Amino acid sequence: MPTIARLLVGEFGLPLPARLTVFVYPTHVAYAEGLAKLGHMRTERAAQIAGYAIGLYQRERLFINDGALRGACVAVWLGLIAHELTHAAQYELSSGRRGRSEQWIREGMADWVAMRVLDRLGVRDGRHRRDQALNEIRQDRGSSYEIAFLMTDVLIERHGLESIVAYFRAFATSDDRFGNFSRAFGVSLEAFAGNAFERLSTDLERGEKPEAKRSPEPFITNEFARDSRVRSPHRPAHHVRRAAVTALGPDGLA
Ligand SMILES: [Zn+2]
Repeated sequence: MPTIARLLVGEFGLPLPARLTVFVYPTHVAYAEGLAKLGHMRTERAAQIAGYAIGLYQRERLFINDGALRGACVAVWLGLIAHELTHAAQYELSSGRRGRSEQWIREGMADWVAMRVLDRLGVRDGRHRRDQALNEIRQDRGSSYEIAFLMTDVLIERHGLESIVAYFRAFATSDDRFGNFSRAFGVSLEAFAGNAFERLSTDLERGEKPEAKRSPEPFITNEFARDSRVRSPHRPAHHVRRAAVTALGPDGLA
């Protein structure tokens, strides 16, 4: 974790809280209890979150369900830590406020940084991450997280990670969801989304059989659907983390 934290601060210029406590739970039940007790959540809410998220960041605290990660490869673990620490950085940038920043940028950035961290650590080659995400969507296995990642990838390609940093900083003093977006990226949210979806549709069609053509469903909503996780009964290792990053309400970021 210190290595990943150093990368986030040193290479990506992301601020992290001075203190961060990590709670690791051996079982699903213990994890749900921990979220309720230490995370100050209603019991039902904690059980619900524990059902789909194996990691949760909440105000200088990170909750991890180790039981669900047993048998997962090292890349899954490191990716989860990098993803959650990026959420910590987002909170820091916004002065501890969650604000009304776009859910897809929060999750997309967390996955994007995680990809770069794994790349940097030599654990996994991040160059194929984009193709992987496109394939998942083509095969109907993609969740909102794949689309969020691809959209954020376009955003960073065009405007740089520093613009995303500026975007999150803006929420420290303003809750102007649309204004903060256009000030940080020089384009309206609507214009960017329309443009990026066009680009994704083109990318999806490329190298695909015509009858299997499928465009991503547009979302400019600020919340992911509750069922944006993978619903497949089979959950191979690389799907585990995706289940871990399902969006949450005001309790924290998963
Ligand atoms: Zn997340």
